[in-house]
Amino acid sequence: MNISVIGAGQMGNGIAHVFAQNGHPVTLIDLQQPNLDQALSTIAKNLDRQVAKGTLTAEAKAASLGRITTTSDTAAGVKQADLVVEAATENVDLKLRIFKDIDARAPAGCILATNTSSISITRIAAVTARPANVIGMHFMNPVPVMKLVEVIRGYNTSDAVTESIMDLSTAIGKVPVEVHDYAGFVSNRILMPMINEAIETLFQGVGGVAEIDTVMKLGMAHPMGPLQLADFIGLDTCLAILRVLHDGFGNPKYAPCPLLVQMVAAGKLGLKSGEGFYTYTTGSKDLVVASTFKK
Ligand code: NAD
Repeated sequence: MNISVIGAGQMGNGIAHVFAQNGHPVTLIDLQQPNLDQALSTIAKNLDRQVAKGTLTAEAKAASLGRITTTSDTAAGVKQADLVVEAATENVDLKLRIFKDIDARAPAGCILATNTSSISITRIAAVTARPANVIGMHFMNPVPVMKLVEVIRGYNTSDAVTESIMDLSTAIGKVPVEVHDYAGFVSNRILMPMINEAIETLFQGVGGVAEIDTVMKLGMAHPMGPLQLADFIGLDTCLAILRVLHDGFGNPKYAPCPLLVQMVAAGKLGLKSGEGFYTYTTGSKDLVVASTFKK
C-alpha cells in the first residue's frame, strides 16, 4: 500500500517510520525542506536505537529508510497514494484546506485519514467529495513506541473503510480501538481536562511543577506527570485541543487555563521549542524545571 504522510513534525515522522518499517513505500510531505531533513534524521536516529536494542537489524533499518521519499509538493506527493495520513498542525482551517486540496489530487479510491487529536472527522470529511473514505487514525506519541491507534468513524465513514484501517493498524503492530466522532474522541476528552487541571493547580500555587508531577507519578502510577506530558505533546497542541473541547461542548469546564494560553503566546511550547514547564536544553536526562517556575 502506498502511504503519503502530510506534516513531518513529531507525529508525521513517527507515522512515516512505522509504515516504512512495516514494508510500505512512504511519501513524507511538509512545507519546508528543512522540516523534511530534520524528520529523516529523527527517523534514522530512532531506527538506530532499535538496532542498538537488537529489535531491528541494520539491513531492516536501511530498507526502512530506503522506502521513505520526501517532497514539499503536496499535489505530487499524494498522486499515487492508497492512503493519506494527514499529521499537520492542529488547526481546523488548515486541515479543511489540506483535505479539500488532497481530495482533488489523490486517486478516487484513496482513503484520507487524519491524525487530528480532536477536530471533527465529519467536518473534515464534509469538505471532500468522498466522506465515506475519510476517517480518523489517531496515533499516540511517540508513534514507534505506543501501541494504540484510536480509529475514529465520522458520520459518513463506511464500514469497509473502517475495517480496512482497523486491519492495517493491526498489520503494522498497533492495537486499534474504534470510537465515535465527538470532540476529543475518547483519549483527549479524558486526558486534556486532567492536563488543564494540573496547569490550573500550578497557576493557583497549590503545588510546584515537580510536586504536581510527582503526586501523579507516584500517587497514581502514571509513567509521566501531566505537566511533563503536556510539554511532550506540545503546549500549542494542548491549547488547540482544549479549544475544540470548549467549542464542541460549550461547557466552561474545558476553558484553557490562562497560564497555558500565556505560555503558548510566549512561544514556550514544551519539548519542541526547548522549554515549557521544564527546560530541555541542558543535555541532561534529569528533568529540570524551567526557571520561571523555580521557587
Ligand atoms: P508539529 O508541530 O510537531 O508538526 C506539524 C508539522 O506540520 C510541521 O512540520 C509543519 O511544518 C507541518 N505543516 C503545517 N502545515 C502544513 C501543510 N499545509 N502541508 C504540509 N505540512 C504542514 O505537530 P505534531 O505534534 O506532529 O502534531 C501533528 C498532528 O498530530 C496534530 O493534528 C496533532 O493534534 C496530532 N497529534 C499530536 C500528538 C502529540 O503528542 N504531539 C499526539 C497525537 C496526535
